[in-house]
Amino acid sequence: MSIENNYQYILSQLPQNVKLVAVSKTNPAKKIKEVYDLGQRAFGENKVQELLEKQPVLPNDVEWHLIGHLQTNKVKYIAGFIAMIESIDSEKLLREIDKEALKNDRKINVLLQVKIAKEDTKFGLTTDEATDIFNKYLNGNYPNIEIKGLMGMASFVDDETQIREEFNVLKQLFDKLSELKPLETLSMGMSGDFPLAIECGSNSVRVGSAIFGERNY
Ligand SMILES: *Cc1c(COP(=O)(O)O)cnc(C)c1O
Repeated sequence: MSIENNYQYILSQLPQNVKLVAVSKTNPAKKIKEVYDLGQRAFGENKVQELLEKQPVLPNDVEWHLIGHLQTNKVKYIAGFIAMIESIDSEKLLREIDKEALKNDRKINVLLQVKIAKEDTKFGLTTDEATDIFNKYLNGNYPNIEIKGLMGMASFVDDETQIREEFNVLKQLFDKLSELKPLETLSMGMSGDFPLAIECGSNSVRVGSAIFGERNY
């Protein structure tokens, strides 16, 4: 299948209210431009270095999402242009982004990444930590940040019941926090599990290999 066919096929699977973030990590700018030319604007990268190489050679209206673990000392390199940082996994990181947003005279959109997978390898906040941070935000902390929603990754397992349980945990937290202040974005679902994620309430999916092909790592 060509990238174009893959892309159109994924789009055809998404209900109208679900946003697609095309995860372009490890793929060269040329391939990203191919998908851009089909109309896609939101792209996801997980490494700052790689993002900084691609951003200048792609059109200005690309909406870049950072979806990987972000070290505080690298925030300054992306603070001027990043559209969304989906991977807030500590309060320290949020403080740093707030500071850099102010320096750049802009607000930075973020998602709180919540650890829902039972696997031990994934970054993310506990539901309690995310709730605590959200309350501080509502009380006026982090004035240069917009917390738009939550992001989570389910375990890499075949067991649909387990994946569904994990997504449901995030959906429940999303609904609970939305009672305090309505949240816009519930980012869950990747190439292997996005239909399930959408069933569980996702309205933003991060799809990479199903568009660009398998990555070689
Ligand atoms: C790589 C990655 C994706 C996309 O994974 P695919 O299986 O290629 O769709 C989504 N979310 C995050 C956080 C990722 O690191």
